[in-house]
Amino acid sequence: MQTVKIKNKYVSKYRGGYPHLFKEAIIDPTALEQEGTVIDLIEQGGKFLARGYYGRQNKGYGWVLTQNKSETIDQLFFSNKIATAVTKRDTFFSDDQTNAFRLFNGEGDGIGGLTIDYYAGFLLITWYSQGIYQFKSYVLEALEQSLTYQGIYQKKRFDTGGKYIDDDDFVKGKRAEWPLLIKENGINYAVHLNEGPMTGIFLDQREVRKAIKGHVAKDKTVLNTFSYTGAFSVSAALGGAIKTTSVDLANRSLAKTIEQFTVNHLDHNKHEIKVMDVFRYFNYAKKHQLNFDLVILDPPSFARSKKHTFSVAKDYVKLLEEAIAITSDGGMIIASTNYSGIQLKKFKQFIEQAFTNLNEKYQIKETFRLPFDFQTDKQFPEGNYLKVIFIEKVRG
Ligand code: SAH
Repeated sequence: MQTVKIKNKYVSKYRGGYPHLFKEAIIDPTALEQEGTVIDLIEQGGKFLARGYYGRQNKGYGWVLTQNKSETIDQLFFSNKIATAVTKRDTFFSDDQTNAFRLFNGEGDGIGGLTIDYYAGFLLITWYSQGIYQFKSYVLEALEQSLTYQGIYQKKRFDTGGKYIDDDDFVKGKRAEWPLLIKENGINYAVHLNEGPMTGIFLDQREVRKAIKGHVAKDKTVLNTFSYTGAFSVSAALGGAIKTTSVDLANRSLAKTIEQFTVNHLDHNKHEIKVMDVFRYFNYAKKHQLNFDLVILDPPSFARSKKHTFSVAKDYVKLLEEAIAITSDGGMIIASTNYSGIQLKKFKQFIEQAFTNLNEKYQIKETFRLPFDFQTDKQFPEGNYLKVIFIEKVRG
């Protein structure tokens, strides 16, 4: 146990329950050495503020775990947090149409730097720092106590850039066979838990995929940009889309997208899958006067390709303009971002800006944030990162 003095100006923040320990708040951050150390945040006068752990994650120095001075950070602490999280998700465990969801969402479930996803009986733990990884045996024991599972995999995102450390990600139990087939609102998805940093599906978009399949895609032509494994394309195809076109720069996306179509008994030959830069695709579409009834935009927060660097903060308006230009009148754009640096209000301003620039009208139809299983902490709005807006391009 170590104490960490907090600057006066941040005392009220931690008194108010702010869960994230950041460098500027600490009087002497260099005194912190051993990741995984339990630390007491104290006022300069010595008064107790909160207890947490030291772990380097991006610009962060750790997470508050409790404001209760008599609570110890031990097996019981981890067991209680994980059991509570599992109980909260009981409707997911009893849903026969969905068997993949987030079981534990970091600070939203009381332990920052740790997420646990449930994939058809297999668990995927993501450790966001060396610090939280020091509590591995507590976490594994807590899982043992709270639920039954077939096997556990892990992702170590230790480096301060949040980068994944390539490893055999198997931890214990039974090894899965790849692809592992999961079900989500009746859609099948192929996932791989031991193949680099990503699994093939982003669980936080579940409700968006459900809406696309349920009431958006029918009889539409669909362009899915930054398509990754084509999860949105598959939901659109199952929802009755005439045709989908998936565009992603990564070579792997072709085989991965074919796989997602195939596990849903869809003929991928009736759809287009393009391995190319989306900005090149927009030019191609304009040149050939293509347009689409539904255009999906889900870029990474930052990306570097041969020709472009893209950042949500700087380039989303431009991206929207490209999309608007090839969306049919009365058609729809789904604009998504998981960038926590842009709030919903600002994101809506991007939309307003893009339509104004092109002298086009629009109407916002639906807005999605994180689903229930991605619990967030009200004191930490940065953790509520997902914003997805369904925009109708109104006939002029
Ligand atoms: N929409 C996807 C997730 C997108 S992840 C889903 O729902 O599953 C972001 C993807 O953008 C990655 O697959 C990456 O290869 C791709 N990407 C990044 N820059 C790109 C660019 N300039 N053109 C096309 N794809 C790009």
